[in-house]
Amino acid sequence: MSGNDGKIYDLLIVGAGASGISAAIAFQKERKALGQKTGQVLILEKNDRVGKKVLATGNGRCNLSNKEMSPAHFHCRQDGFPKTVFSHVTQQDVLSFLSDIGIVTTAEGTKIFPMSKTAASVVDAFRYALDEESVEVVSEAVVDSIVKEDVFKVSCADGRTYFSKKIIVACGGACAPNLGTTGDGYKWLSSLGHKVYAPKPSIVQLETENAVTKALSGLRLDADLTLVADGDVVAGHYGEVLFTDYGLSGPAVLQVSGEVARRIRKDRLTVPMKVCLRLFDEPMLENIRVELTGRRDGFGSRPVEQILLSILPQKIGTMIVKSALDRPLSMPILSLTDQDIERIISTLRSWEFRVLGTKSLDFAQTTIGGADCDEFDPDTMQSKLVSGLYACGEVLDVDGDCGGYNLTWAFASGILAGCSCAFEKAGETSGN
Ligand SMILES: Cc1cc2nc3c(=O)[nH]c(=O)nc-3n(C[C@H](O)[C@H](O)[C@H](O)COP(=O)(O)OP(=O)(O)OC[C@H]3O[C@@H](n4cnc5c(N)ncnc54)[C@H](O)[C@@H]3O)c2cc1C
Repeated sequence: MSGNDGKIYDLLIVGAGASGISAAIAFQKERKALGQKTGQVLILEKNDRVGKKVLATGNGRCNLSNKEMSPAHFHCRQDGFPKTVFSHVTQQDVLSFLSDIGIVTTAEGTKIFPMSKTAASVVDAFRYALDEESVEVVSEAVVDSIVKEDVFKVSCADGRTYFSKKIIVACGGACAPNLGTTGDGYKWLSSLGHKVYAPKPSIVQLETENAVTKALSGLRLDADLTLVADGDVVAGHYGEVLFTDYGLSGPAVLQVSGEVARRIRKDRLTVPMKVCLRLFDEPMLENIRVELTGRRDGFGSRPVEQILLSILPQKIGTMIVKSALDRPLSMPILSLTDQDIERIISTLRSWEFRVLGTKSLDFAQTTIGGADCDEFDPDTMQSKLVSGLYACGEVLDVDGDCGGYNLTWAFASGILAGCSCAFEKAGETSGN
């Protein structure tokens, strides 16, 4: 069953997410800039509407970029790949592209949002732009296979088939499957000869030994978090930490989670890892040491579990004392030795949680792994193996830090793929 009576599109894009939509709009705009007519462009989207994941980003506010943009925020086995892509489509190009379709932005700290702070307004602007640029969108079209014959033949799970001269795989990674991204692209790219690295979750909660975190479940604090792997500090971030039944969550934890995932093989950590929370800086710790020592005289008859009263929220203070001292918390403060006070100070300096792993892809915001970038040209996003095949966004082995980097990557790589498709004739590659 043909989805469109055997019509051959100029460009077919799989996935109406951030990268696919950008690619479609960029393709049409580039054609016009090159003095050509707009092309026949089709997007096939599994969900019942476009941009469903974009709607969920930034807690519905869509953190679409970051003022602190540098290659260090992007991770890829081919180090230079994202850097080359951003040399063609810079962050400023991305923001101009968004502005050209009616998305004005504002910064909150270093994070960049739409001025409305509403993801829905980004998706609305996308929908208008797709319409204005005459991009055909077929939703509830679950692509099942992509085969290269004279042109590309794309088959959907319901039997519909579509044909196109060029194709952009923009179907995202394998995290948040409830939003449509179930790693389908890996299968097609593999069948077309591409190497795919197994997906792992990033920007995801951490599972840790949970006796303490469970007791504090739902409570938050600000901390200077470091992640230690086999004795070395491998990542760090200052920010909010949330205690949960299974371990730790919150922005500071999500930010370092990729470093944990990268050290997991076959569901096991390859090295011992711990999260250390510093709750106070050194001058503050010195003040607290003096205060606690004084409390032995001033409040000697109070129970030990109260020694951090008013320094930390009650439950957190109690758990700090419990973690630091191996003795009943009902003992009087008077019984604490100088060493005991030093142990409490040490715990406030570095409260340690043994890491067991990460939560699964289901809970993650981005995917580590995906199609090997070595097999794609970072000047065009075209496959080096199959002429006319392009990929962009999260389906590739590029993941960004938390803070707007993943959407920026999706937009930039999508714009580059779309412009390249407009510019290059199919067949202009060294591949077959
Ligand atoms: C909850 C959440 C919050 C996030 N918040 C932020 C944030 O604030 N800032 C940020 O930078 N990043 C954020 N991210 C990450 C960011 O959303 C993604 O990295 C980005 O959307 C990837 O863009 P993409 O176009 O590659 O894929 P997606 O946006 O995931 O789009 C892929 C599309 O392809 C479709 N598709 C998949 N398989 C098929 C198929 N077989 N047939 C047809 N269509 C298919 C999917 O339904 C989907 O619509 C967040 C992610 C999540 C899950």
